[in-house]
Amino acid sequence: MQSTETSFSFSDLAISAPILQAIREIGYETPSPIQAASIPYLLAGHDLLGQAQTGTGKTAAFALPILNGIDLERREPQALVLAPTRELALQVAEAFQSYARHLPDFHILPIYGGQSMDAQLRHLRRGVHVIVGTPGRVMDHLRRKSLSLDSLRTLVLDEADEMLRMGFIEDVEWILEHTPPQRQIALFSATMPEVIRKVAKRHLRQPKEAKIEAKTATVEAITQRYWLGSGAHKLDALTRILEVEDFDAMIIFVRTKVLTEELAEKLEARGYSAAALNGDMSQALREKAVDRLKKNTLDILVATDVAARGLDVERISHVVNYDIPYDTEAYVHRIGRTGRAGRKGQAILFVAPREKRMLGAIEKATRQRITEMRLPSHQDIAERRVEQFKAQIMATLEEENLDFFRPLVQQLGREQGISPTDIAAALTFLVQKDRPLVPDEKPVPAEYAPSSREPQKKFRDSEPRDKKPKRKEREDGGVLYRIDVGRNDGAAPKDIVGAIANEGDIPGSSIGHIKLYDDFSTVSLPADMPKKSLKRLEKVWIVGKQINIRPWTGDAPAAPVFDKPKKKKGYPKKNG
Ligand code: AMP
Repeated sequence: MQSTETSFSFSDLAISAPILQAIREIGYETPSPIQAASIPYLLAGHDLLGQAQTGTGKTAAFALPILNGIDLERREPQALVLAPTRELALQVAEAFQSYARHLPDFHILPIYGGQSMDAQLRHLRRGVHVIVGTPGRVMDHLRRKSLSLDSLRTLVLDEADEMLRMGFIEDVEWILEHTPPQRQIALFSATMPEVIRKVAKRHLRQPKEAKIEAKTATVEAITQRYWLGSGAHKLDALTRILEVEDFDAMIIFVRTKVLTEELAEKLEARGYSAAALNGDMSQALREKAVDRLKKNTLDILVATDVAARGLDVERISHVVNYDIPYDTEAYVHRIGRTGRAGRKGQAILFVAPREKRMLGAIEKATRQRITEMRLPSHQDIAERRVEQFKAQIMATLEEENLDFFRPLVQQLGREQGISPTDIAAALTFLVQKDRPLVPDEKPVPAEYAPSSREPQKKFRDSEPRDKKPKRKEREDGGVLYRIDVGRNDGAAPKDIVGAIANEGDIPGSSIGHIKLYDDFSTVSLPADMPKKSLKRLEKVWIVGKQINIRPWTGDAPAAPVFDKPKKKKGYPKKNG
């Protein structure tokens, strides 16, 4: 078993240059523990029993060795990944695509139930190198002989325990029996129930094991909280937290070097004194950043695990896990950057709904409950800004020499016949113009309901009632479109607005009603939307699914599950 402190890099692994280049561009710094433990075995052709959950980097652990072995000249399925849900199948397919960006003409096909059989057959006929599918649909194709596994070299069972839980294990075994004898098998599972062990025993040949072990550790001086949310909403959530949290210095952990820089830049743009800390920076630059943190000229470091190793700065009052760590050991190491020298520390963890299992593992490893946090509301932020403003006034009265200004104000009052209150009010207005005491109202970002699959019926109560959507607003002039993501996919209106606004370059304010149904949604878009925008939208994915946008041709759909709130200024901009 390997620990988080993996000391080798991707280039030490025998992975081909185009794949290494993709990894570099994506910004991965070092292999995650499960990658370090699995990739060498898989490259050497061994079968593998990997115990790892979502969030550990297990997808790359099998995708990179598979891609490394693909013969691009042969458009036949050389690898098959079985996944429990179509959402996971799509995520895995997307991950493969991103690692294969420099492999010319690489083709991967996700196949799952509920998707048109015709399209799948067409793609299969054209030939693909890798298939990622749910067991039922893969079985269908094998039975129809539209899919042949004769050239299969590697089979991956991803989230085997989930497949068991969902009743797919017999299908999985059936598929295993229809694969050529010489194939390599990698079985990944978060837990190893007896049935999975038996499947492994029956089908894997002398498998090597890769396991992420959870050691326990004490973190008593640190208060731990988490927030459930993901994607573009994380930045908004972070900004809100920064507004109201009393912090001295803060470390924000992200997964990639690229993100350390992007996030530090965004925080700087929002007026925080922030810098990146990553493995690409020279030792001297890194030391300089840490030194600035120590000397109070910097308040926030956005760091990768590797770069922040051993960091010891007493001022650090907060650790934010913007991206969840790969394992509990990394988590303990991260939050250990705070609560130093007998001080109290605060740790905040952002958890996507699909990473909840990791949250449980962390609680177990630290033997502490992590409490869910509410994001500060618009009102909380306004109150906080007013408080800060008052404190600033008091400090100015105490610390500054105002001898010149007092008579000036009195003179103005006399000349204009206005009260000191009026003058002070006008000055207050001017002072807060760039950063309003009552900021522009935005919906609180994704606070997922206990189950991310439940519809998001309303925003938090902190949203004034009269700001609720006005239905009539869109009925004039908007054209209704259908998209292939719905409630059952875990989509929420904000995901749809965010994606359409960003990818289609359509101002948030012109996106109309969104209505969520179980398997699809409708959205009203401007009639004069440029063709270009629609073209771009056709390629958009939301919650791991291609939305396949097209004009709505059915009857006016019935009761909506949710309407988008009227105000959209706050939805994520392209780089915001
Ligand atoms: P997974 O456990 O496969 O779902 O991966 C979780 C997340 O970790 C994904 O967003 C990956 O892009 C990211 N990831 C995987 N490997 C690495 C790595 N070596 N360095 C940084 N991020 C990674």
